[in-house]
Amino acid sequence: MKYIIRLSSYARKSSLLKMEAPKMSKVCYSSFMHNKAYINGQFVTAASGKTFEVRNPANRDLLGCTPDMDVSDAQVAIDAAYDAFQTWQNTTAKERALVLRKWFELCEKYKEDLAMIITKESGKPLAESIGEMTYGSSFIELYAEEGKRVNGEVVQSPSPSKEMIFIRKPIGVAAMITPWNFPNAMITRKAAAAMAAGCTCVVKPAEDTPYSAIALADLSQQAGIPSGVFNVVTSSKANAADIGTLLCTSPKVAGLSFTGSTAVGKLLYKQCSEGIKRIGLELGGNAPFIVFDSADLSKAVNGLMAAKFRNTGQTCISANRILVQSKIYDKFVELVKETMQKQIVVGDGAEKGVTFGPLINESQLHKVENLVKSSLDSGAKLLLGGKRHEKGGLYYEPTIIEDCAEHTPCFAEEIFGPVVCLRKFESEEEALAIANSTNSGLAGYFFSENLSQVWRVAHKLETGMVGINDGMISAAEGCFGGIKESGIGREGSHHGMDEYTYFKYLCFGGLN
Ligand code: ADP
Repeated sequence: MKYIIRLSSYARKSSLLKMEAPKMSKVCYSSFMHNKAYINGQFVTAASGKTFEVRNPANRDLLGCTPDMDVSDAQVAIDAAYDAFQTWQNTTAKERALVLRKWFELCEKYKEDLAMIITKESGKPLAESIGEMTYGSSFIELYAEEGKRVNGEVVQSPSPSKEMIFIRKPIGVAAMITPWNFPNAMITRKAAAAMAAGCTCVVKPAEDTPYSAIALADLSQQAGIPSGVFNVVTSSKANAADIGTLLCTSPKVAGLSFTGSTAVGKLLYKQCSEGIKRIGLELGGNAPFIVFDSADLSKAVNGLMAAKFRNTGQTCISANRILVQSKIYDKFVELVKETMQKQIVVGDGAEKGVTFGPLINESQLHKVENLVKSSLDSGAKLLLGGKRHEKGGLYYEPTIIEDCAEHTPCFAEEIFGPVVCLRKFESEEEALAIANSTNSGLAGYFFSENLSQVWRVAHKLETGMVGINDGMISAAEGCFGGIKESGIGREGSHHGMDEYTYFKYLCFGGLN
């Protein structure tokens, strides 16, 4: 009861109960770029006073310096989240929905400002950043509603003197480690589900993109989300591993959700095993993109442009291995090349008309460069691009290589860059064998107008998600996640809340 009164005063302060329609923002995006982390409702520096630089990948300009927190700061955040959980878990789903809804409305109101922050720190074209904001906010909107539908069960008891009920409880403090490729949406996808379930959060955003996380914290404060419920701990790469270890092993943390590389995911999985923590992992993919002879080629080309070049190829569900059936191979390749040359405009994502930004950092640029070079050395053939872009900096040319085999580095590994790697195939069986010959199993795509084939291939592709005649499968309502080494658990949809709740079985005995 005490907590309900407290929440109501937050609500009054933040005019939550008025629920006015969102207005377009008149503020400047930079007013959301605090050079601070956010712990227990306060914008704070690192205890050590240390900071790290954040630069714009489009031109390497310094955007600012954010707190380089270490384990002592992370512990303060965990303590705050743990304390806040003691009251937040007792609020009603409806009360949580009201503040989450307010958070969503503020994200909508300041969408363009937060999108500009995404572009500045990740290099993503502004139109894509606005798309990410719509996508990211839609998780908050969805979970504000879904939280009200976390219901239990009353089951048939085997005994007349017993009643058996299952209720669902929030797990507690949820830790989140997020990547740079979707600096907003990868946080909201996790945090909104956790908070709607009654959990509190400690978020460790990627070192390349901390400002989007801080902007979300600012709006969470404005929305009246109570202190300690949503915390952001910023750190440089140097402190990430130690903070990660603390988040995985602290007895006050109930679960961890991670999106990032498979190597780091495996490490965190091991660390979480010590305390048998709940874990959700969204790791790397190596998506097959199959175009069958019966495909509508214009749909397939558009699908490939979306699935390959969104975020300059830096998404875990990017099409990685492009398999094309022999009869339509030449035509398809010609169309892809033509479309790339016509549609792709390389540059700073903040400039009008740009559709293709830089890679995120030097290490990503080196990785793409080396993968292409070693693929060509091992027998693949270059059709377009294949080198650093003349703009210099972190730009890499939109590239096509063909004659890729299973051992070709660009085929065997997730590229995370703008490289179309082609392979010709003859039969459906051959395409499926190639597609499934990997330890990854995140997304897969295929294009076919043959209904029986669609059904067969959809079932046989060994991936957690399948785009059928579609290259854009992400939506808050979709159930996102992988199999094999691509991850555990699902995010988005009502299933996204499962990670943050547990069943408690109540057995009422001795009933007359
Ligand atoms: P990438 O190589 O694409 O940057 P990472 O998996 O290294 O992907 O990074 C994803 C997130 O994981 C970032 O927030 C990063 O700081 C964090 N991270 C990196 N290494 C570790 C680690 N050893 N333990 C915990 N978190 C880590």
